[in-house]
Amino acid sequence: MSDRTSSSANNGNRFRLKFWGVRGSYPTVDPATLEVGGNTSCVEVEVDGRRLIFDAGTGIIGLGKEFCEGANPPAAYVFLSHTHIDHVMGLCFFEPLLTPKARSYILGPGSSRGALTRSLRHLTDSHLFPVSLDELKGKKEIFSLAGGEVIRFGAPGRRPKIESPRATNGSLANELIITTCKSSAHPVNGVMLYRVHYQNKSFVYATDIEQQEGGYPEIIEFSRGADLLIHDAQYLHGEYVSRLKPRKGWGHSTVDSAADVAQKAGVKRLALFHHEPTHDDRMMKKIGNHAKRLFRSSVVAREGMQIDLL
Ligand SMILES: [Zn+2]
Ligand SMILES: [Zn+2]
Repeated sequence: MSDRTSSSANNGNRFRLKFWGVRGSYPTVDPATLEVGGNTSCVEVEVDGRRLIFDAGTGIIGLGKEFCEGANPPAAYVFLSHTHIDHVMGLCFFEPLLTPKARSYILGPGSSRGALTRSLRHLTDSHLFPVSLDELKGKKEIFSLAGGEVIRFGAPGRRPKIESPRATNGSLANELIITTCKSSAHPVNGVMLYRVHYQNKSFVYATDIEQQEGGYPEIIEFSRGADLLIHDAQYLHGEYVSRLKPRKGWGHSTVDSAADVAQKAGVKRLALFHHEPTHDDRMMKKIGNHAKRLFRSSVVAREGMQIDLL
């Protein structure tokens, strides 16, 4: 797979992903890892004239600077998988949150109204950061999701509309919608999976998932037939079952289980994501080859990589 699998004629009709951070757990600056990239989770999606962002790991810092290059920054729609530190550590340095003219909508898992705001306030506790979340100058609205909601969008820049859980045959959606699925397959509070649909194309963002043997049926179903599945693939099978340091229960999948789920869900492509920080570029190359043997249309996500879905 090349970095750019097709080109689209104009921005309005674009459905393009760009990886800004692909590393799991913590960022790395080891030169031996920089071909794949050292920033933690952040994926940007340009679609239907909007810019959506999945997770606010350190990868979001560079993206935020790009957002604020012009005089009128576009609205940022940020979808958090969960609030573990590697997925939110870039948030306090995300330029739109520091820029009075900018507007951000932040959505993520929260069991009740205001729950996500309360979780994120921990980030700016005065012992950890000098300015509180509420004092950051950018305009922001934070929405807690329980899972199962359908998210729709009005005109670009407007507040997203969050509809209550109900069955949606999203795989056939022509308009831009996001469906959500809350999974308990990540300690301790679970994780949100997102599926973005537009013009009958879709991709699934499924990071920080520890698949059970054979895959979780609800995750396979949620990913059914997607054009792209971005899936946690932090460990090699040998690491997962290692006798000295077994990773079972740590909340992440093996490359083998990600490929197995991709196969069972009948997705068109698989992007391995949330890479183990101790895996250097040489190891990642081996992992990429191994994954291709298990699921032919798979690729190791790396920083800067773009994938066009339209
Ligand atoms: Zn993580
Ligand atoms: Zn996590």
